[in-house]
Amino acid sequence: MEHDRGTRPFWLDIERPAFGALERPIRVDVAIIGAGIVGLKLARVLARHGARVAILEGARVGEGASGRNQGTINRGPSPGYGELTRRHGRATARRLWQLGDENHHLIREQLAEYAIACDYQRDGMVSLVRQDLAGWQARAAACRAEYELLREDGFAVSWLDERVVCDITAAPAGTYVCGMIDHSDGQFHSGRYVIGLAQGIARTPGVALFEGVRVRAVRRTGSVTRLDTDRHAVDAPTVVLGTNALAPQLVPGLERAMRAERGQVIVTAPLDARPCRGSFGTSLAWWREIDAGGGRWRLLFGGGRERDEPDSLFPQFDARGEAHAALERDGFAASSAHQQRLDVQLARLFPALAGVPITHRWGGLQSFTADGLPLVGCLDAERQIHGVVALCGRGNCHSDVAAEHLGARLCGVQGPAYADLFDELCAVDRASARWPAWRSTYSQAPVGADGRASP
Ligand SMILES: Cc1cc2nc3c(=O)[nH]c(=O)nc-3n(C[C@H](O)[C@H](O)[C@H](O)COP(=O)(O)OP(=O)(O)OC[C@H]3O[C@@H](n4cnc5c(N)ncnc54)[C@H](O)[C@@H]3O)c2cc1C
Repeated sequence: MEHDRGTRPFWLDIERPAFGALERPIRVDVAIIGAGIVGLKLARVLARHGARVAILEGARVGEGASGRNQGTINRGPSPGYGELTRRHGRATARRLWQLGDENHHLIREQLAEYAIACDYQRDGMVSLVRQDLAGWQARAAACRAEYELLREDGFAVSWLDERVVCDITAAPAGTYVCGMIDHSDGQFHSGRYVIGLAQGIARTPGVALFEGVRVRAVRRTGSVTRLDTDRHAVDAPTVVLGTNALAPQLVPGLERAMRAERGQVIVTAPLDARPCRGSFGTSLAWWREIDAGGGRWRLLFGGGRERDEPDSLFPQFDARGEAHAALERDGFAASSAHQQRLDVQLARLFPALAGVPITHRWGGLQSFTADGLPLVGCLDAERQIHGVVALCGRGNCHSDVAAEHLGARLCGVQGPAYADLFDELCAVDRASARWPAWRSTYSQAPVGADGRASP
């Protein structure tokens, strides 16, 4: 299941090493499904606590969202600081941002430990308020309020007024009204990062990494859970999911709190002038530069949708309760309607790039809860399936700390000091994570709260 419909993501358009093939049935302490950043980091933590683990990847390392994203390391989760302060209080919002800092710190530790050359830099993330879209006044006020809260709480942020924003974006006057930069955020080459991580972790004693092993079913017999794969069976007392948007296929019921959403991305041919510095986000668009070598730069540009865009939302199951055909067929593809919306936004925000060739276009599935925080913990007690799923567009903000937390808990060792945050805010069965009914192009009637498409 190599997802090459549409084009290959820029991040995976590199020479990629092959990892092991599952040649016989095996038995391990923990079977991890998925070799994106989550599965890999969980393997790293579990092995450190003494577990023998096997990572089973249905396609190739990084083939999911981990090799298809913007490659930004944000310390803030998907809901903003103001929103989290309103919901959980200021002290909790502050701790969540510190959690993101800790995640970034752990990423840097891995870069050093495994000597991963992935163009890591720390140029910050700029949030911009567009003036050319309705409702900009309210967005500008919210951005300012968020900035004030972060600054008062000691985070390294700067305010950007209209003049500064014009300078750093080179956009036509009247495009942006203001913005804010979080200086702590970083960037890397997502493909080199996830592959470097896999190479380092595959060398770790107690870890076996297999590609091309699609897990079809997970069933419990006595004290062991058996994974039926399209290669050989794998037995383990404990199973961990790092399968992102495809998790409900193995644990039905999760779809109530996990909406599969497709993002789409384009990358330009190398440019003579650096288009920007760091990562940027605004309504309907986000972008960053990529060093193309020799003093040239590419622009990576994504977005082009509002949250509820029906052609980006995928039902998990069809009316018969089978995995919906569209999910894997189209979830990783670039669709022409969405790509056109991206082209429109690119022309609007970067008119100087008119006519620049686009070398890569792709899609990528991620999954979101309704409250914007991940699901971490036990997903199915009967079959002993645990996991870290629904990272809500912020895998580089939460995957390490979540792996540290869950790994310690599964191995019965002292967990990190922030365990209570996961228990309180990321509990798998919390009501705030569940979606009401929504619309999808892939279903004629609204998709119900059970994630099922009507006939
Ligand atoms: C367009 C886009 C932009 C994004 N930008 C950012 C960003 O800038 N910063 C950020 O932090 N996050 C970003 N994200 C989100 C981030 O990429 C994800 O949160 C993160 O990569 C999820 O990692 P994962 O390991 O959970 O899942 P994935 O990377 O999706 O990996 C899941 C793996 O599981 C495998 N799998 C699934 N089912 C099975 C099965 N049954 N058997 C075997 N294997 C299976 C898949 O093949 C896949 O390799 C973005 C995502 C997208 C799509």
